[in-house]
Amino acid sequence: MPERVSNHSTSSTPATENLNSYDIAQQQFDTAAQYVPELPAGLRDWLRGTMRLLKVEFPIECDDGTVKIFSGYRALHSRVRGPGKGGIRYHPEVSADEVRALASWMTWKCAVADIPFGGAKGGVICNPKELSRNELRKVTRRFITELGDSIGPHTDIPAPDMNTDAEVMAWIYDTYDMMHSGKNNLPVVTGKPLTMGGSLGRREATARGCLFVTRRAIEQGAVPGLQSLRGARVAIQGFGNAGSYSAELFAEAGAKIVAVSDSTGAVKADKGIDPKAAFAHKKQSGSVVGLPGSTTITNNDLLHIDCDILIPAAFENQIRSDNVAGVKAKVIAEAANGPTTPAADKALFQRGIPVLPDILVNSGGVTVSYFEWVQNIENEHWSEQRVNEYLREKMEAATDAVLQMQLEIKDRNGVSVDLRTAAFALAIKRVTSVALVRGIWP
Ligand code: NAD
Repeated sequence: MPERVSNHSTSSTPATENLNSYDIAQQQFDTAAQYVPELPAGLRDWLRGTMRLLKVEFPIECDDGTVKIFSGYRALHSRVRGPGKGGIRYHPEVSADEVRALASWMTWKCAVADIPFGGAKGGVICNPKELSRNELRKVTRRFITELGDSIGPHTDIPAPDMNTDAEVMAWIYDTYDMMHSGKNNLPVVTGKPLTMGGSLGRREATARGCLFVTRRAIEQGAVPGLQSLRGARVAIQGFGNAGSYSAELFAEAGAKIVAVSDSTGAVKADKGIDPKAAFAHKKQSGSVVGLPGSTTITNNDLLHIDCDILIPAAFENQIRSDNVAGVKAKVIAEAANGPTTPAADKALFQRGIPVLPDILVNSGGVTVSYFEWVQNIENEHWSEQRVNEYLREKMEAATDAVLQMQLEIKDRNGVSVDLRTAAFALAIKRVTSVALVRGIWP
C-alpha cells in the first residue's frame, strides 16, 4: 500500500489563493475553452460540470464488533469518448469537490493521450492507517456493492489511487464478479495483480510516461536552455510510485538526480543520487533523509534547488504564488495531479519556464491501464517490451499534439498560451468533435 499523504497543503498556503481543486479545474477549462470556437455554449456548460456524482453511506462491522459508518463518492465527468475511467482513493480528506476535479482531469488526460475513455474518480472518506486489512476489504466490498451497476467494464472502470493498491483492485474485481458471474469481468477494473489480469509495465507506467514526454519536449525545442536529457540535473518531490520510478528511469536515461524528497524531508547531492540506493535506504529506514553521501535540506529548498528539471510527484498545490519566485528549474514536469496553482502557472509562464502539464505528463498511468483493459477483453498478455514501446508512441504523439496546439492558438488568435492551456484546448477539441458527431441525446 502506498504511503499516505495529505493532498491538501493548507498549513503554509496563502489565504489569497483559492486552492479548491474543483474551482481550479473549472478555471483551467474556462481558460482553454475560449480557444475551441466549435464548442457550443450549452455543451461547454455541460463539460465544465460533472455528469454524475454519487454519494453512498454504509455501515461496516469492525474487528472489535463496533459498527462504523463510511461515506464514499464516485464522480463521472464524461463518457463522450468512452467509458468513465479513474482511480479510487482512500483518504480522510476525500470530498465531493476533490473527486469532481479529479474526474474532469481524467477526461482531459484520456483525450490528450488519445485513448478511448472518459473521466471518472471515486473515493471513500477513511484513514486506512486506522483500519485493519480485513476492515479495508469490507469497506471495499461494501463500497463497490453500493456503487452497483454504476461501474462496469464498458461504463465506468476504477483503478488504484492514493492508498489503494493491486490487492484492493483484486477485491473490487471479485466483488463485481460475484454480482455478475458468468462473464469476463476482468476489464471492470485496472491496476490488478499480474497474476489476475494486470499488465506488465503498469507499475512504472506513470514515471515512464513522464520520461517519454519530458524527453520529447526537450528534443522538440520546447525547453529554452536545455538541449538534452543526458546530463540534465533533476530534482524530484515525492518518492512513491511516480517519484521513485521517475528517479530510476531518468537516471537510466543519462540524467543526474540531484535531489529527492518524501513526506519526512529532502536530500541533495551535487554529484548525483543513486535512485536504487535511495530506494533501499527508504525501504530500510522509512525515509530518504540520511542517505549516505547526501545533505539534508527542507522540502521547500527542494523546490528552489538549482536544477534543470523539477518533477513534482507528491500531490496538489505544491508550487503556489507564495513559493514560485524561488523556482530555478528550466522546466517543470508534473508527475503529480494538480501540483501547480493557476497563479504559479502565470508567474512561470511570464518567466519563460515551461510547465509540462499533468494531463500530459502523468497520462502514462492511464494509458497502460487502457492496455490492461484491452488485454483483458482479448484474454491476452502483452510482453513488457510491447507495452513500453506502445506507451512511447502514445506519449510522443501526445506531446507533439500539445506543442502543435500551442502553435495553432498563436497562429489563429495571435496570443501565446502556456502548455496547460494548449493541452486542455486539445482535449476539449477532441471531446467536442466526438460530442458533435454523436449528437445530443435524444
Ligand atoms: P505515493 O503515495 O506512492 O507517493 C507519494 C509520495 O509523496 C510519497 O513518497 C510521500 O512520502 C511523498 N510526500 C508526501 N508529502 C510530501 C511532501 N510534503 N514533500 C515531499 N514529498 C511528500 O503516490 P503516487 O502514486 O506516486 O502519486 C503521486 C502523485 O502522482 C499524485 O498526485 C497522484 O495522483 C499522481 N499520479 C499517480 C499515478 C500512478 O500511477 N501512481 C498516475 C497519475 C498520477
